[in-house]
Formats: sequence, C-alpha cells, structure tokens
Amino acid sequence: MASDCLFCRIVAGEIPADIVHQTATTLAFRDINPKAPVHVLVIPRAHHGDLTAIGAADPALAGEVLAAAAEVAKAEGLTGGGYRVILNSGPHSGQEVFHVHAHVLGGAPLGPMVSR
Ligand code: AMP
Ligand code: ZN
Repeated sequence: MASDCLFCRIVAGEIPADIVHQTATTLAFRDINPKAPVHVLVIPRAHHGDLTAIGAADPALAGEVLAAAAEVAKAEGLTGGGYRVILNSGPHSGQEVFHVHAHVLGGAPLGPMVSR
C-alpha cells in the first residue's frame, strides 16, 4: 500500500467509500463527483499507477478489473441501455488519481466519446 495514495487508503478502510462490489483482488465504489446517473470506480486492491503500469506488471489483474467492471454494469442494471468504461492514463487523459481505476458510466445517453 502507498500511504499517500487516496485509493490505497480506501482499500485499507482509512477513508470511507460507498462500496458496491468487491472481489479478492478488486474493489468498486461510487465516484464522489458522479458524471452520469451511475458512476462507479473499479480499482485493483494492489497499487499500480495507471494502465501502462498494471498492463506491464500484472496483465491478469488488469483483466480482473475489467471483469469486475462488467459485473458492476450488470448489477447496476446498465447492460440493456449500455455503458462506457474509461481508464484515464497519463497527462493528456486528465488522470487525477494515480492508482489505476476504471470508470463505469451509464444510466443515460453519455454523449460523444471525446469532447472537442
Ligand atoms: P481520474 O480523473 O480518471 O483520475 O478520476 C478520478 C476520479 O476519482 C474522479 O472522477 C473523482 O471524482 C474521483 N474521486 C476522487 N476522490 C474520491 C473519493 N474519495 N471517493 C470516490 N471517488 C473519488
Ligand atoms: Zn494506490
């Protein structure tokens, strides 16, 4: 655990979160500033900074994060209307929290994939 990492502290139970799904290796909780009617973040319990890092260090775990995102979408009732999964990685993406996380967004039409 990185003690200065917000999401590691959520995994450790030091900071509260509205947890909606968990597995042995992943945790999912509602985004504190939702951008859609459903906005859940799925993270690995282990610290990896971004998709580049987890993809190199533990690609199986990256797959578990995606599988958990699909389970969250199903549990939140998003599969009929559809949903979007976003993994911001690095400066151009606007990533703010450097513990890799998948945003699961849905519950209404989400608009264009990228704003211009
Ligand atoms: P990103 O820009 O991809 O790094 O996304 C970081 C996300 O974390 C943003 O959507 C924030 O609203 C969200 N966030 C920040 N702090 C918390 C928190 N304590 N609990 C839940 N979500 C958070
Ligand atoms: Zn972390």
